[in-house]
Amino acid sequence: AHLLAYNRSLMEMTFAIIKPDAVRARHTGRIIERIEEAGFTIRAMQLRHLTVKEAEGFYAVHKERPFFASLTTFMSTGPCILMALESEDAIKKWRGLMGATDPAKADAGTLRKEFGASIENNATHGSDAPDTAAFELGYFFPGIQFAR
Ligand code: GDP
Repeated sequence: AHLLAYNRSLMEMTFAIIKPDAVRARHTGRIIERIEEAGFTIRAMQLRHLTVKEAEGFYAVHKERPFFASLTTFMSTGPCILMALESEDAIKKWRGLMGATDPAKADAGTLRKEFGASIENNATHGSDAPDTAAFELGYFFPGIQFAR
């Protein structure tokens, strides 16, 4: 019982998006297949067409960046897939599977290399740290359970 509790304590949840470019290109199925093959458990999932306001709230940390208006407009151009993904070390593991922000610089075999078209239209989003994961999960999945 002690060991079981210990293993569970290593579990982590991260927040992921299949962005509108990838949904539009019909890459949703292949990306979800890769997520499951990598061992993540999908704890929540929703297809949702974000408003510009929702995208602005989600990306509020980037509001001073020169690409903020372009990014939030892009994120509301069509439906995206919002997900809560669970695994051990989920935040780092999902960032690794996605690859670098710029698909041109992403490693071979990563999702952004395979499905991303540009630094902005880069197919997927993933939380970069525990505090941002908590904010992002709560933003779209209020009331989600972190621990079982
Ligand atoms: P991420 O954590 O890898 O998603 O990268 P960032 O937090 O730095 O940026 C958030 C998102 O903004 C990225 O995923 C891109 O969609 C977009 N983005 C980042 N850098 C640029 C840029 O230089 N130009 C444009 N147009 N978009 C960018």
